Amino acid sequence: MYDTIIIGAGPAGMTAALYVARSNLKVALIEGGFPGGQMNNTSDIENYPGYANISGPELAEKMFEPLENLGVEHLYGFVKNIENHGDVKKVITDDEEFETRTVIVATGSKHRLLGVPGEEELNSRGVSYCAVCDGAFFRDQDLLVVGGGDSSVEEAIFLTQFAKSVTIVHRRDELRAQKVLQDRAFANEKINFIWDSVVKEIKGENRVESVVIENVKTNQVTEHAFGGVFIYVGLDPVSDFTKDLQIQDASGWIVTDDHMKTSVAGVFAVGDVRQKDLRQVTTAVGDGAIAGQEAYKYITEHC
Ligand SMILES: Cc1cc2nc3c(=O)[nH]c(=O)nc-3n(C[C@H](O)[C@H](O)[C@H](O)COP(=O)(O)OP(=O)(O)OC[C@H]3O[C@@H](n4cnc5c(N)ncnc54)[C@H](O)[C@@H]3O)c2cc1C
Repeated sequence: MYDTIIIGAGPAGMTAALYVARSNLKVALIEGGFPGGQMNNTSDIENYPGYANISGPELAEKMFEPLENLGVEHLYGFVKNIENHGDVKKVITDDEEFETRTVIVATGSKHRLLGVPGEEELNSRGVSYCAVCDGAFFRDQDLLVVGGGDSSVEEAIFLTQFAKSVTIVHRRDELRAQKVLQDRAFANEKINFIWDSVVKEIKGENRVESVVIENVKTNQVTEHAFGGVFIYVGLDPVSDFTKDLQIQDASGWIVTDDHMKTSVAGVFAVGDVRQKDLRQVTTAVGDGAIAGQEAYKYITEHC
């Protein structure tokens, strides 16, 4: 029997593990992939206090390192379901079941698909959702980045170190990204913009060769040659496995109060998977700290 099982080893889950373990509780951190979460797909993090600039994977490593010494059990597995039996919760993975007094859900979000012809067929053959993972394969090519938020602008700037040119296509006439990123993108000679436009189709025989783009104001359709397309058009929660608990809103984001408590006693949610305004490493870390502390309080008061 664990005191706390944390599902997901991104910044939110790792911070929750740190706080629970320092309270001397028996804690397991279940991760279906590589510890670090979305930070592993992030080139430069420039808004994490204490570091002017740090690569995502490096920050992930720094967060993960101390957990083992604190006695956090790192278990590999994909959680399929959580059963609520009152004071005891069952966490069910592909091939194992664990009992715990509290659960902290920290499974984050996943990139949204564009949903256009060619996207699926050419995935990993020029279509990518991770500049850090794939950018170096696109040396001296003309690339398209889809989206106008922080992630798309940040990763477009990152891609300029490999690419011949990077074009950002955005459905509005201004970017949503932070001002500092916008200024840097506008000043970068390798970055071009296509405004008020959406991708209609990605074309190519075996690899991406061109992209069909429609201007939403004029309805003019044009085809442009690109060697790669990087897509950053929003996020969806990774929360399907919590359905039985009925703790999600209509879009699947998990609803919590300020203490990270869901409507099920002993079940907490933190980080990107939560219904909230700002999805960042700093806010994930803050959520994790609160949930770790609240899980400790719950156990001392209820168990
Ligand atoms: C390209 C890009 C650039 C970004 N740049 C920045 C930036 O510069 N600054 C910043 O602050 N933020 C940035 N972000 C956002 C930041 O990475 C996220 O807000 C943060 O990682 C969220 O942390 P999290 O712990 O909630 O979730 P995640 O980091 O998504 O981690 C969730 C973890 O849960 C695991 N998991 C999911 N489902 C299961 C399951 N069923 N069972 C077991 N494990 C599971 C996943 O494998 C993953 O490791 C960026 C994001 C992207 C995509």
